[in-house]
Amino acid sequence: MHIEKAVIISNSEVAHQIWEMKFEAPMIAKASKGAGEFINILAMENWQNPLRRPMSIASSDGTTLSIIYKIFGEVTTILSNKRPGDYIEILGPLGNTFSHWQNDHHPILVGGGVGLAPILNLQHECKSAGVDHSIIIGARSANEHFIDHEPDRKIYLTTDDGTAGESGTVMGPLERLVADNTKPYIYACGPEPMLVAIREFSLAQNIPAQLSVESYMGCGVGLCQGCVIPRQNGEIQHHSYHQKYSLVCLDGPVYEAEDIQFV
Ligand SMILES: Cc1cc2nc3c(=O)[nH]c(=O)nc-3n(C[C@H](O)[C@H](O)[C@H](O)COP(=O)(O)OP(=O)(O)OC[C@H]3O[C@@H](n4cnc5c(N)ncnc54)[C@H](O)[C@@H]3O)c2cc1C
Repeated sequence: MHIEKAVIISNSEVAHQIWEMKFEAPMIAKASKGAGEFINILAMENWQNPLRRPMSIASSDGTTLSIIYKIFGEVTTILSNKRPGDYIEILGPLGNTFSHWQNDHHPILVGGGVGLAPILNLQHECKSAGVDHSIIIGARSANEHFIDHEPDRKIYLTTDDGTAGESGTVMGPLERLVADNTKPYIYACGPEPMLVAIREFSLAQNIPAQLSVESYMGCGVGLCQGCVIPRQNGEIQHHSYHQKYSLVCLDGPVYEAEDIQFV
């Protein structure tokens, strides 16, 4: 794990309120082990926003990293005002990675909203390994998409309001792709209702699924204990809650669907 002052190379709005930032971070980029990991960003060195903000690594090429972020509140607004040449201080790489498919599995990658960031990183790994895969990207409306709907290339978009791709949620194309492939393997990151639906579906269909969970967290390194998620069938043992709850920052953010539960 490193702390690095990362010089911003580019920062632009790629869809409505959704930004992509690229920056030089050679130490963290070299240490990065794969898709799923995140960094913790200190946007300003002042006491107004002392807590770092976690962001998934969307791409890494050995010296530069990129993130894709949605403007939610104060710090993501500050990030969107950064210009090339400015810097941010980042801590990382943090968390675990998606573990890879085996043999003849067909990875189905599912990204909802800015949960797309680690999914695009995983898609890059699929492409580099020459693995046939499908990707489903869900958003509320067309203006939140920055990738084209290309079913011929196994890229499926969905929108809640039907303004781009298929109307409805990611579950439509997901159920179809699962039915059409003999050995599907689901990888997903996105809002909790989407992860809940995918978890229930994968367990009911007995399909392996890995879910990347974005719990709100204070520190990212296991100190604040703020990002817990209940383990499936976990119990408090020896007066410790660690068998019952997992820390997303240290044990996650990627979990096998059957290992966790949402409350
Ligand atoms: C492991 C991990 C990876 C993440 N990766 C990305 C990413 O790639 N792109 C991206 O845009 N965001 C990502 N997030 C979420 C991101 O960290 C928050 O959007 C960000 O911290 C918001 O900061 P802010 O100061 O702009 O908003 P704040 O003022 O801190 O938040 C505004 C409001 O948004 C809601 N909110 C903010 N963050 C979260 C959250 N994590 N979970 C639930 N509700 C939240 C809260 O209701 C909060 O009151 C990730 C979170 C985690 C834990």
